[in-house]
Amino acid sequence: MSILIKNATIITGATDAMVLTDHCIGIKDDLIEFVCPSSELSSEFQADTAIDARDMLVMPGLVNAHTHSGTTILRNYAGDKKLEDWLFNHIIPAEMKLTPEDVYWGAKLAIIEMLKSGTTSIADMYWHMDYAAQAFQESGMRAVLSKSPLMFKDMSVDLAGCVEYYNKWHNTADERLKVYLEVHSTYLYNPDLLEEAAKVAKQLNTGIHIHLLETKHEQRETYQKYKMSGAELCEKCGIFDVPVIAAHCVHLDEQDYEILARHKVNVVHNPSSNLKLGSGIANVPKMLQRGINVALGTDGAASNNNLSLFKEMNLAALLHNGVAEDPLAITSSQAIAMATSNGAQALGLNTTGVLQAGKKADLILLSTKGAHINPITEPLSAAVYSAQASDVDTVIVDGKILLANKELVSIDEELVIAKVKEIARRIIE
Ligand SMILES: [Zn+2]
Repeated sequence: MSILIKNATIITGATDAMVLTDHCIGIKDDLIEFVCPSSELSSEFQADTAIDARDMLVMPGLVNAHTHSGTTILRNYAGDKKLEDWLFNHIIPAEMKLTPEDVYWGAKLAIIEMLKSGTTSIADMYWHMDYAAQAFQESGMRAVLSKSPLMFKDMSVDLAGCVEYYNKWHNTADERLKVYLEVHSTYLYNPDLLEEAAKVAKQLNTGIHIHLLETKHEQRETYQKYKMSGAELCEKCGIFDVPVIAAHCVHLDEQDYEILARHKVNVVHNPSSNLKLGSGIANVPKMLQRGINVALGTDGAASNNNLSLFKEMNLAALLHNGVAEDPLAITSSQAIAMATSNGAQALGLNTTGVLQAGKKADLILLSTKGAHINPITEPLSAAVYSAQASDVDTVIVDGKILLANKELVSIDEELVIAKVKEIARRIIE
């Protein structure tokens, strides 16, 4: 299968050449074969499908580096609650009623929303992860799936289950699926279990996906219990000896920035979720200054309540410029990098996140016909400040077209929405 994208304005995602005008992209199988000026297009490249991108903006597929896909079932439920009350008195009790098959349909709904809003890769963390894996395998998306050794139903520990899950799913579906270990948080795990989880991740030569220092309450409690910060605890227990995706990192002390930088921990900023739950605002400009890789995530639909990376990218730029009283605190190109190349780096996917020859063909085309986005004098500004998720017209992952003319190629959207509405009615009686 080969695809030619013609007459394109391209945001490459690479720092040295962010915008190219009047260019072509040639895709052969799963890879970008070339990116070249339209005038240099060779007549030898024969494409099965040609896309005229004259009224489009072409970007790398967006990377949602922290979400819980199955929680779409709990979207718009238990609003206006404090995080601990929301999580322990409402969300977890509802989740206890979820069957594995429910999680499959919840993940399917998440996939629909994410593909239609331009997300091509995600890091997922939830339970009944075999069923989420099945949904992602069918979807054509790229996913880093993580399974928890801690069973929330009875708080039993099943490290062997994580190894089994890794062996079953890692590098499957044309290597689109990867498996990490989930360590939910330092507040649900004791130090012994943190150490054991780190050991298993090391043995499997894989990474860990964790929630870290999300709230002031968590920060205080960790100090009271262990006389050290959550970052110090992770460092001590060996969690940071493997690649780590650390969601939130809102409440860091001075030494924590140094610890995260030293261990090359990938931080995932989830501005909507942190704002909605009143958790606070992570100091992203400071992390970037310290050389910490910062990606973006939506968190789950229960705490956002959307899965649009365009919304997060826009919010991240606005929020930090406002807080810092500096319009350069997060530039447009930094916001785009957080949603693309930094996200790919966070997920350990060095083959995607940038539009360059030799990289995986994971890219999106935004329609630029709308009144709200014209004129596009500066494409980077347009992508961060004007574009809407609903502008996403075409999505290509691994060289395959998954969304065309804003329509999903192989998922029955109406069926999935009906299924999830039915599940939500049963769970939230
Ligand atoms: Zn989360």
